[in-house]
Amino acid sequence: MAHFCLRCGRPLVTRVIEGRELEACPDDDFVLWRDPKVATAVVVEAEGGIVLGRRSIEPGYGEWCLPGGFVNHDEDPAVAAVRECLEEIGAGVELLELLGVYHVAKTTASSIVGIAYRGRLAGGAAISAGSEMLEVGVFRLDALPEIAFPSHRQVLTMYDGAAGRSASPPSPTPARPTQPRRR
Ligand SMILES: [Zn+2]
Repeated sequence: MAHFCLRCGRPLVTRVIEGRELEACPDDDFVLWRDPKVATAVVVEAEGGIVLGRRSIEPGYGEWCLPGGFVNHDEDPAVAAVRECLEEIGAGVELLELLGVYHVAKTTASSIVGIAYRGRLAGGAAISAGSEMLEVGVFRLDALPEIAFPSHRQVLTMYDGAAGRSASPPSPTPARPTQPRRR
């Protein structure tokens, strides 16, 4: 697909920059950098488990996922995470912890750098499905439905690991928590 210079409108040409082939303007210094997009995902703790939404849009229509989404260009990722929770599960969420960073490699679109948080429903908040969800629900970690995205499965593994690390006191026969610990 042809691309054009954002400064002067001329068709871009391929140029090798820092060892990578990129599209650039033949007349000025405009380069069409191929940057990743930034997304967030939140493991929201609620009474009885974690909150998931069943998607009403592609990709992953009809499947369950964590609340989250893309970070706007001028937005702090933590603010974006809370905003997406409000939009998708209809509830105020308080972020508690950074779980980790994940990467979704893509070849036909921008790759995604994902930032995963642990959060909890703000005091007394009830959940309801936003426009991108068919329904929302609370699930125990040992009874999760099929999760739409490998990246979200990875986040849930991070969450499981974080919950395991914070379990105390150490037990000679450690039991895996079947639902999030109350904090
Ligand atoms: Zn130009």
